Amino acid sequence: IMEHKPTINFGAGPAKLPQSASVDPRRFACVTNIPDNYKVMFLQGGGSGQFSAVPLNLIGLKEDRCADYLVTGTWSAKAAKEAEKYGNVNIVHPKLDSYTKIPDPSSWTLNPSASYVYYCCNETVHGVEYNITPETNGVVLVSDMSSNFLSRPVDVSKFGLIFAGAQKNVGCAGVTVVIVREDLLGHALQECPIVLDYTVQADMNSLYNTPPCFSIYIMGLVLEWIKNNGGSAAMETLNKRKSALIYDIINASNGFYVCPVDEACQSRMNVPFRVGKKEGDDDLEKKFLDGASKLGMISLKGHRSVGGIRASLYNAVTLEDTEALAAYMRQFQKEHQ
Ligand code: PMP
Repeated sequence: IMEHKPTINFGAGPAKLPQSASVDPRRFACVTNIPDNYKVMFLQGGGSGQFSAVPLNLIGLKEDRCADYLVTGTWSAKAAKEAEKYGNVNIVHPKLDSYTKIPDPSSWTLNPSASYVYYCCNETVHGVEYNITPETNGVVLVSDMSSNFLSRPVDVSKFGLIFAGAQKNVGCAGVTVVIVREDLLGHALQECPIVLDYTVQADMNSLYNTPPCFSIYIMGLVLEWIKNNGGSAAMETLNKRKSALIYDIINASNGFYVCPVDEACQSRMNVPFRVGKKEGDDDLEKKFLDGASKLGMISLKGHRSVGGIRASLYNAVTLEDTEALAAYMRQFQKEHQ
């Protein structure tokens, strides 16, 4: 997957790390299929850097500088706000009161003159995941896949651009994968900072500035692990089983556990739920978290903006880990309902 030959490194930085951030899309093919007319880049700045880079690079694709956004959670809302700095943003559906569903595509008003349509494939904070690929009638489709990248197969050919911060499923923070169709390069706005300019970075194999080589190295190991474990299709099978274990308990709990998200778009990566009653019982949720922590299960607290509990079941969380959480949830309900 990555060039990794032992070398004597006369440059700065730790020895024996890959010297190039360049990746041939065909090498990525062992984990996900990427057609030859796409560039894969390894950049810095995280998911947030990339949702800024998207309008800077793509909103100028058409003269009108319009972009369509689906706003179904915190991350797409932040992305839309960022894009407003550079052009006209059209939120394609009626504003949502809460981020617990994906508005039916029949209610979307897409602008045929938009430069691109943007959505966040998995809203990490709210646990809302798209199980459909939005139909855009030929308009370039852009997706933030930061929190479900390589958790399931993706037909890259349907997208103009996909980006994903590594820190959920493919490594550690520091590197962000950007997969862009070649014909979309060359349209960056003049004010686009050069490190965010896809054309520059693609031309220089992601080496315009110093790459986060340790994060890239770790990602190489994780990609190898995914490949050796059956690729993204096998990850999907496992992730379906893991998330079903938790959703089944929630659904069978007679309202002791409540997931606020519409069944059709419940995320396989992030399962948010309340304990005790619909809007959550603070004391019981604290007990739940304390008890989990005593059993070595940590980071279950929901995002501070929504509260409650959130079980994140990224690729690195095993079926056994998930079974341990499921057993704890059953036991906790028995003791506290
Ligand atoms: N998009 C999504 C879907 C995310 O989950 C996150 C971070 N959790 C971001 C964007 C922002 O990523 P970063 O913190 O790397 O900027």
